[in-house]
Parts: sequence; C-alpha cells; structure tokens
Amino acid sequence: MKENDSIREIAERLLAAERVLLFPHIQMDGDALGSAAALCGALRSAGKQAAVLVEDPVPEYIQFLDQGYCTEDPEAIPSPDVCVCVDCGEVSRFPKREKYFFQGKTTICVDHHTTSRPFADYNYIDPKAAATAEIIYRLLTAMELPIDKETGEALFTGICTDTGNFQYSNTTKESHLIAAALYDSGIDHAGIAVKLYQNTSLEKLRITNKILNGLRLFCEGRAAMAWVDQEMLQQTGASMEDTEGSVETLRNIKGVEIAAFLKEKEAGVIKVSMRAKTDGNVAKIAEKFGGGGHVKAAGCTLRTDMETALGQLAEAMEESLRGI
Ligand code: 5GP
Ligand code: MN
Repeated sequence: MKENDSIREIAERLLAAERVLLFPHIQMDGDALGSAAALCGALRSAGKQAAVLVEDPVPEYIQFLDQGYCTEDPEAIPSPDVCVCVDCGEVSRFPKREKYFFQGKTTICVDHHTTSRPFADYNYIDPKAAATAEIIYRLLTAMELPIDKETGEALFTGICTDTGNFQYSNTTKESHLIAAALYDSGIDHAGIAVKLYQNTSLEKLRITNKILNGLRLFCEGRAAMAWVDQEMLQQTGASMEDTEGSVETLRNIKGVEIAAFLKEKEAGVIKVSMRAKTDGNVAKIAEKFGGGGHVKAAGCTLRTDMETALGQLAEAMEESLRGI
C-alpha cells in the first residue's frame, strides 16, 4: 500500500477491468455522487459493467446525477475486477459496504481529504484538488475516455458543490480550467445552478427558521453553533436532508470564524458538520472526536445527548480559537 500511486497506474487498472463497482461516501454530497456517477457513466460508455453501490438513499437535491447508476444490491456487479471508492478518506466513510469493497480483485481509492490515509491497493489522494471530481476528470482524460454531457454535468456538480460555487479558498485555477473544459461537453451550467441553489422547499425554509431560533454565538461572536433534532423535523415536516446548507448559513454570519451544526440522527447519535471561514481549522477539531475532513469543512459523530454534545463541541471550538 503506497501513499500515492499515479493517475496513469490507476487509469491502466481501470482500462484493464471488465466489471467495476464504485463507492461514494455515506450521506452523499454533490462531489461524492458526482464523481461516482461520472466515472460510472464513462466506464459504461466504454463498454464495461459498472454500478455505484450505495447504503443510504440519494439526497433529493442531487438525484438528477443518478442516471440509473445507484444500487443497494452488492451483487449488481458480481465478482468485480476493480472496486473504487471516491471522496472517502477512510473505510468508516462506507461502513456497511466495507466488506464488498475489499471483495474487489483490485481496490482503488480516489480522494482529496487532508485527513486521508491509504487503505486500498492503489491510492490517489490529492488534498490540493478542490473536489474529487477534479481528479476524476484527470483520470478520464488519462484513460482517453470521452466526456459526454451527462458525465460533464456530474463532474461540474462535484466541483460546484465542493468549492461553494467557486467561492472557497480551495478553488484553484485548475478548478476553473476543468470547469471551462466541461463546457465543451455541452453542460447546462445554468440548469445545474437552478437544481442546486434555486430549489428550496417550504419545509426547508421552516426548519431553517427553527434552527436559527436556536443559534448560539460565543467567543465574542467568532463561533456559531446550532442544532436540529428529530422533534423539530416532525414539527416542520422537514427531512434531515432539508438541513443541508445550515452550517454554511452559520459560517456566513458576519464575524463568525468557525461554525458547527449538530444533527440528531437518532437518540444518542449526533452528527456534526463544521466550517471555518478564514484562519480556523475544523479538521483538527473533528479529528479530536474521531472524525476528519478538510481544514475548512469537516465532520464527526458524537455518541451522546444533544446538550452534552453542544457543550463538548463548544469547548473544543473555544480552544481552537484561542490560537487564532
Ligand atoms: P459535511 O459537513 O458536509 O457532512 O462534511 C464536510 C467534510 O468533512 C466532507 O468533506 C466530509 O467528507 C468530511 N466529513 C464529514 N464527516 C466526517 C467524518 O465523520 N469523518 C471523516 N473522516 N470525514 C468527515
Ligand atoms: Mn469532496
């Protein structure tokens, strides 16, 4: 197991494969599913059997990326030659599918998280890539596979969502160059923007309203926190998916440097999403609780009640702001 194999080596493994199974992380985002869908579509166009194995439902706001690729059936691709996980820095990011991943004759990990460690036969981890979708673009180019409109839109979505629509500091010249190249595949960039950003349901507005009622600001307004539990979802008719974007709303508050949003998945299981604006490092905070991610976007899970989780997080956030 090596720290970094080359794109070329990985391209060759995929070109030689007949059957490929792809693994995005749990609670898929635009980059995880966009990367998996793009690779799946391109491999199918090249005459290979490919599918995206998932363990939870595809969130509604990115369902347009799933053009018949996603399945919960591990037998969809029997005895895969290659299993590829995308946007996953550790096996805990696909917990129920781990055993299927390692059934691949060859395993490959393509990722861009700073906290990732190699665990597959071939690992390509580039923390400088703003999105895993950028690496998939480079991989498809190395494989000399054509990028059609559908594949282009999946890659574009991954880059848009992971760069905050080209706003975050992870955005590079290469992000823009790849996005520009994708225009040549005929993508409908304005249509994607409508699907991603101009599609808010009333339930989402209602739950956001409730969440913001519970906003906690501390450290002289440099830290922000809010939370959602199952009861709030029931009261508003919203789903947990409708809370997507809440952590960004907290981070966007004037003066806030780090933000945390806590979601009660079930009693005693709190999923935390964190964001930093400028100098903060939320990956470090997430790692303290056994999670990980990027410097400016990270997460972890706390197994306790909401009030205790809020207290523990607040303490870790205060400590991390002391150095800044
Ligand atoms: P989000 O807050 O959008 O769920 O996640 C932000 C970033 O942190 C994503 O890149 C995601 O992959 C990563 N992340 C979120 N939760 C975890 C976790 O529990 N463990 C690790 N290693 N990464 C996480
Ligand atoms: Mn990503």
